[in-house]
Amino acid sequence: MDYKERIERAKAVLDSAEYLVIGGGAGISDAAGLHFSGKRFTDNFRPFIERYDFEDLYTSSFYSFKTEEERWAYWAKHISLNRYETPATELYLDLFKLAKRKNYFVITTNVDHQFYKAGFPAEKIFAVQGDYGFFQCAKGCHNKLYYNEDIVKEMIAQTADCKIPAELVPKCPVCDGLMEVNLRKDNYFVQDEAWYAASDCYTAFVQAIVDKRVVFLELGVGFNTPGIIRFPFEQMTYQNPNATLIRVNSHHPQGAKENIRQTISFSEDMAKMLAAL
Ligand SMILES: [Zn+2]
Repeated sequence: MDYKERIERAKAVLDSAEYLVIGGGAGISDAAGLHFSGKRFTDNFRPFIERYDFEDLYTSSFYSFKTEEERWAYWAKHISLNRYETPATELYLDLFKLAKRKNYFVITTNVDHQFYKAGFPAEKIFAVQGDYGFFQCAKGCHNKLYYNEDIVKEMIAQTADCKIPAELVPKCPVCDGLMEVNLRKDNYFVQDEAWYAASDCYTAFVQAIVDKRVVFLELGVGFNTPGIIRFPFEQMTYQNPNATLIRVNSHHPQGAKENIRQTISFSEDMAKMLAAL
């Protein structure tokens, strides 16, 4: 099917759908302009690139820093750029306009807060993998998250020679150990009460629509963590003859064999495609 036909078909299923489940992966924020490489990276991380030979913002986030002072200088800038300096982007705003017409829920692996910034209410979002805006105990010794905007800004203000002063290194208020950004990367990821509440809301939402006219709108979800959005969306579509999966993915747009007829795939530009819907 050519692009125009797929857009028309996607519009038609969206118009007639009673429910909309949006799945947001890394590809949506990239399409929205939050690039992890190229000019956005080199403009903002020049001192770190010169010091550590960083190639992009993805690989640099796995770098093993020698000291906490260096680690937090880098992470403060990483968090600040992606969480505090970047406002809601056009693409997410367009998506919110589209979602508002429906009874919807969002599940996302993104940690950049863009859904919230664009106007999606917190009670309709399940951000599975965490949020740049919070610190947690690095060993997960207790179940609480700490909003980090002020401390991050202070770290940046006091960064010199790619280091923060020792007295700004965050410490766990319970065990006095190291702190971490609340991103799922090991078994110590903290899921607080709000996380469990969002998880329950999402589960209740998808359980209530198993036989309803539903569109699963999957945006930029690849194979990093396909078990969170991609495979469940395929499964839930397959189990419901009234469901359609709209999959937008520049690299892996194809649907699963079992429900190819219920899948509309796009590998085209996501921003343009959403604007057309
Ligand atoms: Zn602790």
